[in-house]
Amino acid sequence: MTQLALVIDLNVCVGCHACVTSCKEWNTSGEAGYLTDERPYDRDPTGTFFNRVQTFEVGEFPNTQTVHFPKSCLHCEDPPCVPVCPTGASYKRAEDGIVLVDYDKCIGCKYCSWACPYGVRELDEKQKVMKKCTLCVDRIYDQTLPPKERKPACVLACPTSARLFGDIHDAESVVSKAIRESAGYALMPEWGMQPSNHYLPRRKTAMRIHDDELERADNPRKIDGQLPRPGADDPSLDDVTSW
Ligand code: SF4
Ligand code: SF4
Ligand code: SF4
Repeated sequence: MTQLALVIDLNVCVGCHACVTSCKEWNTSGEAGYLTDERPYDRDPTGTFFNRVQTFEVGEFPNTQTVHFPKSCLHCEDPPCVPVCPTGASYKRAEDGIVLVDYDKCIGCKYCSWACPYGVRELDEKQKVMKKCTLCVDRIYDQTLPPKERKPACVLACPTSARLFGDIHDAESVVSKAIRESAGYALMPEWGMQPSNHYLPRRKTAMRIHDDELERADNPRKIDGQLPRPGADDPSLDDVTSW
């Protein structure tokens, strides 16, 4: 069985949000969600996002790194969001493994969003139906597009080619090769959902920080040097940013 998926290279994602905005443009420039999205990462957000980039700092000063982590529906091979749906609106396609919502059947009960452990489903408060990544099912089979454009909008938009798209069950596909060659991993496999999307781990890079780099020229109090230093036994930068 074909299982389409995204593979995201955490080494080259720069957190530019091009995938977020292109996803939004392709999927909501019509009526799929609010066009005005306010406080998308704050309290009481409006609108729906099929794809979000979560950015966080890992490590302890001065051994810190900024990690950008894009996350959308992972199109699980054993998706818990499907059997909980009381109307059959949430379903997984046999032909390509894409997990979708039939808006005509959805009653907005949110059972599926509670069942999804990855938090990627969002209720469209305007249409009162559940929304999530469709793997751009309405693009990738569109015969009116040139073959090279029959890819998800987010894949085409990514300026660093951090997003790959293909069949993870085909050993010769670009995604299978990337997973094999770069030790790609699935998110929280211990939960048993068999997520189809994979991530390529950040590579370890040798980096030496010099003392003078830890003092800002515009810091009149010169307190940078007094900040706590990680102990010898504390996790290193490699430990917390390379998976
Ligand atoms: Fe369902 Fe969540 Fe898996 Fe997507 S990531 S298939 S919404 S359980
Ligand atoms: Fe099914 Fe819609 Fe309820 Fe989700 S919100 S479980 S898709 S009816
Ligand atoms: Fe959005 Fe399509 Fe990318 Fe899914 S595959 S995150 S729907 S642009």
